[in-house]
Amino acid sequence: MLPYRIGQGYDIHRLIPEKPMMVGGVRIESPVGSEAHSDGDVLLHSLIDALLGACGLGDIGDHFPPTDEQYKNISSTVLLQKVLPLIAQAAYTVGNLDATIFLEKPKLGPYKQQIRENLANLLNLSLDCVSVKAKTAEKFPPVGTQEAIAASVTLLMRRIS
Ligand code: MG
Repeated sequence: MLPYRIGQGYDIHRLIPEKPMMVGGVRIESPVGSEAHSDGDVLLHSLIDALLGACGLGDIGDHFPPTDEQYKNISSTVLLQKVLPLIAQAAYTVGNLDATIFLEKPKLGPYKQQIRENLANLLNLSLDCVSVKAKTAEKFPPVGTQEAIAASVTLLMRRIS
């Protein structure tokens, strides 16, 4: 068994009016939110894919098919909480993670620390092991034209001895 494994995840959702915007489990004040079957939290979806990918356990769509009615409007925090035991069962734990959110508006600067703290709590990590960065797309589509929100997560997993 490898002592370390890396994982990466990426997700993008279309933005539509009057949908709550959730990023990393934190509610963002915004007139638009992700069009999605679940709550459309691109950061938690990327995190879930990175965790599953690192452990060779497939992807978020394998575990939570969008056609399955039981996952309609489900909180992505709940999805993450269903995935964490699978990671523990595979005998891996997160070492550190580095995330980037791509969003033109609203600016996420005021939320970055809260998102970071929430991820650290969800994963039972110290704050210095969790990095959350936010970027705009310089007006280039689809993120820059405010049509989409995206996120990517890279993480290192450590084998539990
Ligand atoms: Mg998604």
